[in-house]
Amino acid sequence: MTGLDRLISYLSRLPGLGKKSAGRIAFYLLKADGEFVQGLADSIARLQETIKQCSICGNYTEQDPCPICNDISRDRRIICVVEQAQDINTIEQTGEYRGLYHVLGGAINPLDGIGPDSLAIESLMRRIAEGGVNEVIIATNPTVEGDTTALYLHRMLAERNVAVSRLASGLPVGGDLEYADRTTLARSLKSRTEM
Ligand code: ZN
Repeated sequence: MTGLDRLISYLSRLPGLGKKSAGRIAFYLLKADGEFVQGLADSIARLQETIKQCSICGNYTEQDPCPICNDISRDRRIICVVEQAQDINTIEQTGEYRGLYHVLGGAINPLDGIGPDSLAIESLMRRIAEGGVNEVIIATNPTVEGDTTALYLHRMLAERNVAVSRLASGLPVGGDLEYADRTTLARSLKSRTEM
């Protein structure tokens, strides 16, 4: 296998890239500016050592706790629960939310062997047990797995003294949060419904 073939085979394993686009990128890099290629290679190589998960919320961050958990101007009484760390970016872009977050690391999916124990639910319960939180917004994806997870969390939170709400409908059913447009997401945050 040549170096070019190897690169194409690596690139084609990336999400959203097929063999064809992988080839296009590889040939582009072959002709691209050397400094650009070096910068790209370095940032990929260093990614996993410089970016960690926040020990409180699970957000990707270079500093622990992350800037959101550290931001004293944010509303510490609300925690928005999301499936993936990238969902935080999506919600931040709406500019509608000033509370804290908690990343579950996925959703309950028995077929894939993902039960509540595989998710960061215990750490969420610990944060709530520490006190000061009076609302939990469940922003899992509008999918079967996301709904199952929301119901599970709702049950777990029933005996705690917190209001539990779910993002209002209007989000594309079956889709991922990250594909929702900003306006729809902002609206569903505002009109979230108590569970
Ligand atoms: Zn954090």
